Amino acid sequence: MNPETHERSIADYKPIVGENVIDQLQRLAKKLNGARVLHVNSTAKGGGVAEILNWMIPMLHDLEINAEWHVIKGDQPFFNVTKNFHNALQGKECLLPAEDERIYLEHNEKNAAELDLDADHVFIHDPQPASLIEHRTRGTWIWRCHIDISQPCQSVWDFLKQYVNKYNASIFSMPEFAQSLPIPQYLVPPSIDPLSEKNRELAEEEIAKELEKLEITHEKPILLQVSRFDRFKDPIGVIKAYKLVKKHKDCILVLAGGEATDDPEGPAVLQEVRNHAAEDPDIRILSLPPLSDTRINALQRTADIIIQKSVKEGFGLTVTEGLWKGKPVIGGEVGGIKMQIQNGINGYLVNSVEGTAYRIRQLLHNPQMAAKMGTYAREYVRHNFLLTRHIRDHLAIMIATQHPQETYIQV
Ligand code: UDP
Repeated sequence: MNPETHERSIADYKPIVGENVIDQLQRLAKKLNGARVLHVNSTAKGGGVAEILNWMIPMLHDLEINAEWHVIKGDQPFFNVTKNFHNALQGKECLLPAEDERIYLEHNEKNAAELDLDADHVFIHDPQPASLIEHRTRGTWIWRCHIDISQPCQSVWDFLKQYVNKYNASIFSMPEFAQSLPIPQYLVPPSIDPLSEKNRELAEEEIAKELEKLEITHEKPILLQVSRFDRFKDPIGVIKAYKLVKKHKDCILVLAGGEATDDPEGPAVLQEVRNHAAEDPDIRILSLPPLSDTRINALQRTADIIIQKSVKEGFGLTVTEGLWKGKPVIGGEVGGIKMQIQNGINGYLVNSVEGTAYRIRQLLHNPQMAAKMGTYAREYVRHNFLLTRHIRDHLAIMIATQHPQETYIQV
């Protein structure tokens, strides 16, 4: 967890989002009357879910909600099984041996024995801890799915669905991700914290210091992709696009990413990326340690163009972060990236290596247009993807699940 995020108060966001937004949050929180809220996921660092919980818990405290965050424990076999679940839910072919079911259920059973699940509202994030619902004693339970499960491999989904169907409600990031379920479904896009270490304004000297540590100079335009070394993020496609651009325009490519603790495939993908980069000194592959937030912030603020060429994506927080830094983002036309990039206005949506290279060249040749698109990018995030909107949605869902019979709730 980033201790720095604990310092903030909800009032600090007034200058960014306006007073009315903050007043509304306080009114909604009062309705919940100090409720105990528990969030459970499977990794404390790396990846978008940990990123969100890192700021959400202290913000809920600030609104006088008794919120806690638990990370389930697991060994390598468990995380191998859940990684297979994750891939299967995102459409990869799958097998579900009885042994995998056993490992999954046993781990969650053990975790349940160690957790205090006694809460008014329990949010379970993604498939890893989903079967904890078997250990519910009370409260409303909400399954928060961050990934695209619209075309899952059936055997894994049939297995998990038995548990998901027992929740009071589910939350998906976008309608296209959802599944037909017998429980209510809410749509909540994720968001970013504009005051976090990763997103706060940085002084020129701070940026310069970070770049110096990385031995990166800004003599040539910089293209940047920040993401885990995961095939769905297509880092090799990014290298191919850079190589096409490089034939016409000199530039540097920075691929920055660490490994999430729940992703056993990371090292193999990183090795493939290194092989593709070969000896090109203008491709900088940065293996980031956890909590590299200032560094990521500095890189995003320095980059001329931010890329997120995913071929499958949940929401894509790195896109939000890039847009908030006032940069046009070139992103794969998948998942939540489609929700964030308005093609031709604040960035470009792409479907191929060639398309990516074309859009990179277009932006590099039109810096004024790129700057204007960057201004739109920041405003789009201010109105749609900051944490205040996200907290509002969560408070509203808790109130709604607490009063399932009421169709209208006065705030
Ligand atoms: N991130 C990070 N270090 C890394 C790679 C990524 O802190 O080495 C952050 C990134 O800035 C973003 C989040 O992790 O906030 C990734 O979220 P996203 O939704 O883009 O992808 P996910 O990893 O969840 O698939």
